Amino acid sequence: MSRKPPKNFEWEAFDSPGAPGSGRRHMAKKTLKKLGRARKLAGVPFIITSAYRTPSYNTEIGGVEGSAHTNGRAVDISIKGMPWARVVLILVALVLGGFRRIGLAKSFVHADDDPDKPKNDYGIATWDYMDDERHKA
Ligand SMILES: [Zn+2]
Repeated sequence: MSRKPPKNFEWEAFDSPGAPGSGRRHMAKKTLKKLGRARKLAGVPFIITSAYRTPSYNTEIGGVEGSAHTNGRAVDISIKGMPWARVVLILVALVLGGFRRIGLAKSFVHADDDPDKPKNDYGIATWDYMDDERHKA
């Protein structure tokens, strides 16, 4: 496979822990395209903390069954220690980049474009993980 990761990203960033090459194999092309667009719009580094997850790794960390991460349709971006204005910039860039499902935690932002996941009447879903920092989506 000769496809390239989105600009400013390395394939390794999308791997499930313990499964080298899994990100490259399983991340959806459309998801990566939106991420690349969002990164370009934001103009600031995106540190990926979780992207593709094998179903077993997802279970191990308490992710919901059938998580968008296991379909290669989700990314988590670190916002740890960032000024809120930068967090807002990243959120806006993700939406403008094409993501319509966004979850906000204290230390990361989750974005996915899993077509099988619920959205509201406007085609959007937002939520937070403030009660429980563990990553479930
Ligand atoms: Zn996530």
